[in-house]
Amino acid sequence: MTNPLFDGLLATGLARPQSRFAILPDGREYTYGDVGTASARFANALVALGVEPGDRVAVQVDKSIDALMLYLGTVRAGGVFLPLNTAYTPSEIAYFLNDAKPRIFVCDPARREGLAAIAAEAGSGIETLGVRAAGGDNTGSLNDRAEAASGDFATVARQPDDLAAILYTSGTTGRSKGAMLTQDNLLSNAEVLRDFWRFTADDVLLHVLPIFHTHGLFVASNTAMIAGAAMIFLPKFDVEQVFKYLPQATAMMGVPTFYTRLLADGRLDRERTAHMRLFTSGSAPLLAETHRAFEDRTGQRILERYGMTETNMSTSNPYEGERRAGTVGFPLPGVSLRIVDADSTKPLPDGEIGVIEVKGPNVFCGYWQMPEKTAAEFRADGYFITGDLGLIDPQGYVTIVGRGKDLIISGGFNIYPKEVELALDELPGVVESAVVGVPHPDFGEGVVGVVVAERPLDEAELTGALQERLARFKQPKRIVFVDELPRNTMGKVQKNVLRDRFADILSGTD
Ligand code: AMP
Repeated sequence: MTNPLFDGLLATGLARPQSRFAILPDGREYTYGDVGTASARFANALVALGVEPGDRVAVQVDKSIDALMLYLGTVRAGGVFLPLNTAYTPSEIAYFLNDAKPRIFVCDPARREGLAAIAAEAGSGIETLGVRAAGGDNTGSLNDRAEAASGDFATVARQPDDLAAILYTSGTTGRSKGAMLTQDNLLSNAEVLRDFWRFTADDVLLHVLPIFHTHGLFVASNTAMIAGAAMIFLPKFDVEQVFKYLPQATAMMGVPTFYTRLLADGRLDRERTAHMRLFTSGSAPLLAETHRAFEDRTGQRILERYGMTETNMSTSNPYEGERRAGTVGFPLPGVSLRIVDADSTKPLPDGEIGVIEVKGPNVFCGYWQMPEKTAAEFRADGYFITGDLGLIDPQGYVTIVGRGKDLIISGGFNIYPKEVELALDELPGVVESAVVGVPHPDFGEGVVGVVVAERPLDEAELTGALQERLARFKQPKRIVFVDELPRNTMGKVQKNVLRDRFADILSGTD
């Protein structure tokens, strides 16, 4: 194989060039033949701009079919695709560009002026990529260069271990790290997910996730592409658009918030979803309650899976067996997963909570230019320390109980926030909750419950109701009410924001 990732992702599609690849919101359709041509045009444009094999191409643009073609063009030219969250500020961009030293930085046309000096300082060329509506003007842009370039390109040869992408982790603690993903990391995971979730050329995936993140770019796009399936490629999740396009789709991938938003809409019912083959959820925990509510309304059991930027997908609930609410299923074929004791690093028996470690062809090859960090997060036998805490039940289902850094240690006792959150969520009137540890003068850390309520609730009543359900040391010392929990674009609750906001709330207590 010349370029394992490009060739592997498109083998099925390019063998059927007339088959549909994308349905776009402006009514245009893209065939797999178009993908072959457009990726060649972008690869040619990149090479003309000096991109050589191994060069990084950093991209901070709105989601569009051209952005996806730029990803494929970069891989085809032997480059390393480096997508950046559209929410990043110029000072964050400066960090990424100085760290990754991309050959080219591609940004939104409206941001070029503000970012040109930053790119120049990092030694990167700057290009723009607009969202090209049919007939739209993109003079001087990379879209333009690609359009003018040849639709033929001799795909650059790569080895399975060569880098295909770098994705920066969200970096809620310390510096954001660039996870280096090889051609084979991405290809092997796409193959596994296609087979495990039964994607075929007959599928139409409703694609509403961002493509600067592993979920939308790799889990969704790569899996659909390698199956030769079509995608309804929408700029973002929007309830109206979902209901508009749902009749044409066979599958949808989402983060938990998508499902709670759909549940909040009266149109979600059995009839509208009966033709759907698959709904998946990931990137953040799907409440068992949401899973059940979705099944009650639609008869569909959401398939929850677990992974991270560094590992691609590691576990999944079964396609045919029981999709168990509140769990992330079993290790995927080829992936080994174990739970170890955080202190002794010894594997733990089933049912005990510890740190999740994974090993397999899905696991990244290290953090960009951080050999020490890389070494610290791998065991000698090749397992990657995910930092997530979880357990394996007697049937083999994996449950995530939270991030290690969210663990609360109060008076020497370990408290898993998830357990307290589940107890809070069961109380009448509580919509959802997040539990964090904040400084406590006596216990080191104390438990604080942050609650979204559907009606005014009384703190003392909630605290009282928890007394029978939770051991004393797990009970929140304070419960505060908020209108909504702070979440990032992938639907993850930002516990660091809550910890900062309520940092002083227990300072006067004892
Ligand atoms: P990211 O690298 O942005 O994809 O974030 C990965 C992290 O998201 C994981 O380490 C988990 O903490 C969390 N995560 C992903 N999927 C799930 C899931 N199904 N349930 C709970 N947490 C999840």
